Amino acid sequence: MAQDVLAARCPGCEYVYEVAAGDEHEGFAAGTAWADVPEDWCCPDCGVREKVDFVPCEPERAAG
Ligand SMILES: [Zn+2]
Repeated sequence: MAQDVLAARCPGCEYVYEVAAGDEHEGFAAGTAWADVPEDWCCPDCGVREKVDFVPCEPERAAG
């Protein structure tokens, strides 16, 4: 069973997609679930890594 991913990091450039923040530049509103991001979506920063390469991680909001 897959658990909800709240954030995922690109292994190539440290870009982090956070579900709570979404990515408006990519057309993902805040709260867009990782599962709803297209499988063929690729990293907006490096353009090399695709969704399948991303590594689930802790959301940054924990800082502070
Ligand atoms: Zn990247």
